[in-house]
Amino acid sequence: MDGARDWQAYAAGLKPDGRAWIGGQRVPPGPGGVFDCISPIDGRKIAEISRGQATDIDQAVVGARRAFAEGRWANRSPRERKQVLLRLAELVRIHADELAALETLDMGKPVALSRAVDVMSAAQCLAWYGEALDKRYDEIAPTPRTALALVTREPIGVVGAIVPWNYPLLMTSWKVAPALAAGNSVVLKPSEKAALTALRLAELACEAGLPEHVFNVVPGLGPEAGQALALHPDVDCLAFTGSTRTGKQIVQFAGQSNLKRVYTELGGKSPFLVLDDADVEAAARACAGAIFFNQGESCNAPSRAVVHARVLEDFTARVAELAQSYQPGDPWTRGTVMGAVVDRIQLDTVLRYIAAGRQEGARLVTGGARVREDTGGFYVQPTVFGAVRSDMTIAREEIFGPVLSILPATDVAHAVALANDTPYGLAASVWSRDLDRALTVARALRAGTVHVNSYDEDDITVPFGGYKDSGTGRDKSLHAFDKYTELKTTWIRLPAGIAP
Ligand code: NAD
Repeated sequence: MDGARDWQAYAAGLKPDGRAWIGGQRVPPGPGGVFDCISPIDGRKIAEISRGQATDIDQAVVGARRAFAEGRWANRSPRERKQVLLRLAELVRIHADELAALETLDMGKPVALSRAVDVMSAAQCLAWYGEALDKRYDEIAPTPRTALALVTREPIGVVGAIVPWNYPLLMTSWKVAPALAAGNSVVLKPSEKAALTALRLAELACEAGLPEHVFNVVPGLGPEAGQALALHPDVDCLAFTGSTRTGKQIVQFAGQSNLKRVYTELGGKSPFLVLDDADVEAAARACAGAIFFNQGESCNAPSRAVVHARVLEDFTARVAELAQSYQPGDPWTRGTVMGAVVDRIQLDTVLRYIAAGRQEGARLVTGGARVREDTGGFYVQPTVFGAVRSDMTIAREEIFGPVLSILPATDVAHAVALANDTPYGLAASVWSRDLDRALTVARALRAGTVHVNSYDEDDITVPFGGYKDSGTGRDKSLHAFDKYTELKTTWIRLPAGIAP
């Protein structure tokens, strides 16, 4: 696809289906009825989404359990499971235009990025776990000669997954690909703000040959469908991505029900340290690119730039200038780099934080306003605040919008202290031309990923997750298999020597 009008016309011809996918088919809305799905691009209704209730979740979990108990998927040979995941990855690529258009309609990011980043990364993730699954070996423990101890990993059973709206298809794939690769059944609750691509992925999975009931998607609201999944007594593991506030509730739900394993991938307030010997031009480019990417709705967005006093003025001026090239535009148009924030609630939240920044005495360097209001959609200017103190609301709380706070630091120790002065610990970055210095600082930063002279360069081969309030789990890489498998020891007694 190419060109603005093509994409818009193409999207207008789609008929998004918001019904749940349970047991290998679309099911009509249950007792909860439906709710409207509104596009943030122009505020128009694009679909009706089933409002899943505890009964719908239970139906999906019962089916998923049966499929697991009967070994419909778990007992297939690794090679067969691999073929299905590879076929699914290929189907995602074949349907890339459709998935990209659905993603953009649903959550407002530029369609070119939906296609090139979200859809292609999801396909790559599915293929990578498909390729990985038949190359993993188990262990034999170094026991005395009178025993043989096998330490094996088995699928955990029924995996519940709850995902957010900022990368709906990609976050779904980060959960579903390793969970399915390990042989589990999955019940996924997508965000009520962006459920369309996860539902379509489940359809494609069936087309790829995944048995019925192995991958189910039940849309609905968090406190209804989400809570029912987290409280369900027959879910063995809950993989959650979302806000820290909800993550803390999810952990409690596990305690209140069956002590299911819970893995949380939560919010962030990631620091971006620019030391006095940094390549300021490159740092400013990377910072602007990462904070304004995806409308600032990235868990690992570098929302706090901690900048050495000697390069503060230069860095601030460069970032402010770069912000001009990230002005929001029509998500269907080629060349648009920033689209709409996900909905009116998020728009209001971002504007409230901007107001708080001004009120508490930060200096608004650029941006700060809603734009493109005449479209009926929800667009915010790329915004930069200077002179931010660590105790200000905009330095402490996750805004989840295109808002950068710049905190001045007097020296390296001060920069590290400011960087770690947060309840979060998802990602961080340090910029210095002296690699020894950069690595020393990187070691001192309490974050799941620390970038050195880079930001958000990423690969499926490395784990992604946080320290502290940013969560307990890790998505991506071979480490993700740990979440979706049980560790079993099989101890076999052996004779001490050869019998006469
Ligand atoms: P959210 O916590 O509001 O919702 C996330 C999911 O949880 C949604 O599906 C929602 O319906 C569900 N939910 C809400 N309340 C629930 C409840 N009481 N019980 C069960 N489920 C419930 O978060 P959001 O606004 O959708 O997403 C943004 C957040 O996600 C940000 O904090 C962002 O940093 C975080 N995030 C983290 C990562 C990561 O990998 N660490 C990745 C993407 C987004």
